[in-house]
Amino acid sequence: MVQSQELMKLSKLGEFGLIENIRKSTFRKSPSVLVGIGDDAAVMKMSPTAHLLATTDMLIEGVHFDLTYTDFYSLGWKSAAINLSDIAAMGGLPRYCLTSLGIPPSVSVEQIADFYRGLNALLRRHQTALVGGDTCSSPKSLLISVVALGEAPASREIRREGARPGDRIFVSGTLGDSAAGLEILKAGSRGRGQGSGVRSREPGVRSKDVKSELRNPKSAVDSLIQKHLRPVPRVEWGRKIALSGCVNAMIDISDGLSSDLFHICEQSNVGAAVYAEKIPISPALRRAAAHLGQSPIHYALSGGEDYELLFTAPAAKIKKILSFGLPVTEIGEITRTRKMLTVDGMGKTTAMRPSGYNHFARSPYTR
Ligand code: ADP
Ligand code: MG
Repeated sequence: MVQSQELMKLSKLGEFGLIENIRKSTFRKSPSVLVGIGDDAAVMKMSPTAHLLATTDMLIEGVHFDLTYTDFYSLGWKSAAINLSDIAAMGGLPRYCLTSLGIPPSVSVEQIADFYRGLNALLRRHQTALVGGDTCSSPKSLLISVVALGEAPASREIRREGARPGDRIFVSGTLGDSAAGLEILKAGSRGRGQGSGVRSREPGVRSKDVKSELRNPKSAVDSLIQKHLRPVPRVEWGRKIALSGCVNAMIDISDGLSSDLFHICEQSNVGAAVYAEKIPISPALRRAAAHLGQSPIHYALSGGEDYELLFTAPAAKIKKILSFGLPVTEIGEITRTRKMLTVDGMGKTTAMRPSGYNHFARSPYTR
């Protein structure tokens, strides 16, 4: 029996340290496993021409979502979207999906029906079939686990580990919108629960003021909230990028730019310099950030849940990548020295730490 003082707390090891321990403890993998633990999806050889992609993600009430401001349709949509995003990050085509639920007594039949309406709407968009799952009771919290299976032509999937010094770093879409959307939702729900006296992070600005200011124009706020509640997996973009053969490494931004770039750097044994001014920020986020008392870059680097693609490609491929007509932005460069830096408009460099979401630290959904 191990003495309690010898037991290590999960918070000391962190989510990624724990995954590394699990990875090290797995038995020798079969030759058909081409990519095991450590990438967005596992890759298995199915035939000489086709690879199977497999990924799973959980959503736990109080950790990943809060039912006071998340509707069941959006929850179903998002549960599927975040899994398809991992298939997209490998450049794969999603094909099949399984869903498992742990349902507490407080959830109704109608709410579960709404959940599946949202989930199926997202799956239908991507021609992905729901083929199974599991259903259990749960004493308190709603638990959701989704598995997504996809395919890619042999050896065309893009891993996290291929980045090379001199590669340019690209992201799709805009970053930080989802995190700001979450903050607006939280401010709204606190306001509802406790009156209007709850303050945002900016001294002297009340959440009610933030909300009413942001309501003008209302669509700006709604686009941030929408990005948080109903992210769109970049499946078509990921496939186009992967099949082009231009790209060396790719990941989806689920934990925040700094953390997900860190995964690419760690697994590729490289560093990175990101030009802060080049990070794509939406007009809606610029406006919201000013009222929420944070810089837009903070949300982009640390926010997470954008589900955009982050990828690297040799400089010689920039023209070709831009010719696809996808909304992608070059934001920096992969370096030989294993450090991550941000560079501001004056050329001043600052160390960039992986500051995105890490389980076993405090949850953003815990109020
Ligand atoms: P993502 O954010 O892209 O979903 P994660 O950080 O959740 O990726 O997971 C990183 C890698 O670790 C993936 O290959 C995932 O399958 C694997 N992984 C995470 N948790 C476990 C676990 N408990 N057992 C085995 N593999 C795991
Ligand atoms: Mg991922």
